[in-house]
Amino acid sequence: MDRIESQIVQYIDGHKESYIAFLQDLVRIPSITGYEKDAQEFVRKKIEEFGVETEFLEPDLKKMFEKFPEVAQVPSIGEEGLDMPLMTDDKFTYEQIMASPYDRLKSYKDRPNLIGRIKGTGGGRSLILNGHIDTVPIGDRSKWKHDPFGAEIEDGKMYGRGSVDMKGGIATMVFAVEALQKLGIKLKGDLMMQSVVNEEHAGGGSLGAVAAGLTADAAIVVEPSGNNYMVEDGSNGGVYWQVVIKGREAHAGYRWKGKELYGVSANEKSSLVIASLLKMESEVNKDETLMSFCVGKLHGGTYATASAPECVINGVAYFYPQLGTGPAGINKVKKLIRDAVMNIDDPWLKANPPELKFQHYDDAYKLDSSKDAVMQTVKGCIRDVLDKEPGVKVAGGGCDARHLGNQGGIPAVVYGPGTALLAHSTDEYIELDDYIKAIKVLAVAIYRWCNGI
Ligand SMILES: [Zn+2]
Repeated sequence: MDRIESQIVQYIDGHKESYIAFLQDLVRIPSITGYEKDAQEFVRKKIEEFGVETEFLEPDLKKMFEKFPEVAQVPSIGEEGLDMPLMTDDKFTYEQIMASPYDRLKSYKDRPNLIGRIKGTGGGRSLILNGHIDTVPIGDRSKWKHDPFGAEIEDGKMYGRGSVDMKGGIATMVFAVEALQKLGIKLKGDLMMQSVVNEEHAGGGSLGAVAAGLTADAAIVVEPSGNNYMVEDGSNGGVYWQVVIKGREAHAGYRWKGKELYGVSANEKSSLVIASLLKMESEVNKDETLMSFCVGKLHGGTYATASAPECVINGVAYFYPQLGTGPAGINKVKKLIRDAVMNIDDPWLKANPPELKFQHYDDAYKLDSSKDAVMQTVKGCIRDVLDKEPGVKVAGGGCDARHLGNQGGIPAVVYGPGTALLAHSTDEYIELDDYIKAIKVLAVAIYRWCNGI
């Protein structure tokens, strides 16, 4: 590390308490998907204090569908009925959303992305820092040992919804930039901070930012990437599906009309559909694991004494970037699912084809190895600041890096405090030591990247 870098690390060590206090305040402002604005205003006020120029920019839903029809999703709100409320045979359309009864999902009104800008002095490389302000709901409150919005600290961990996913990351970007500003360190390249809305189950905030033309030479997404020394160079995609299987309802005593089968339970037929889907998964994974298939929910039938007239199965297929990045991967996985559901050798299912719909889909992302300069910068900072050998992996779930990378063409990596294993869980927490370390690594990474070091 050079003299300035040592100065940055020293400055951050001297301000830990204020970083922890800010994160507590931020966790105490609920920002469940759909209700992001208060937290955005809080972050905006903070970054303006140290000279960042800010703007609230609501994602333009129509433009997102015009520019990116294969990946644009229905906006979501973290409430029953408003989280992935629509289905499609193939792809969602803007018209479908406008024709739906969900008025609150027809635009991003009052759900602004926060954009912060620091103009470079010229001649350097520009950088976007991106994180999402929205969190999933708390689930069953009685299962939490800690107040989900209390930001209680115990044994070096801060508990609360959004602590690790990803208010810790948002605060990391805030204080990495603050340290540089307070030390008067000039950057040659332009720096942009993005605190986006609606990452959870839509990705609409970041897609909106890309659709608005916001770009840079590289991006660092500050999602939890794992124990401070891990960087992610990609993320898995996911296709959320639903299959509805029809049966023929009959009282249990009248299943047979002589030799002829009359009562057909949709539940019995569901086992054929599930078997076919799992066979597809094992074929895809024959040589290498590329798909992680989940049969999440199954509901069928009315009475124990009647064959089920209908069975509904919901699930998701997460898939690795090797199956295809961007729209190509999504379309490939949809086809694999469609073929598995529709081509089952069973007379009843042939005569009464199951109905397949898609509820949501994320593209997979992988950093182009020929454009990995930003990865080299982050890895170098982990080595120099933390004295640890960095590791690289692909994020298990969807991540907004996909929109910056695939749709925006911006080389994007993921580096942020904490581990995603704890995301969305009861008693979610962030290790405070992780958080402070990530601020240091990120601050030095911004300094090096923007100045071409
Ligand atoms: Zn997240």
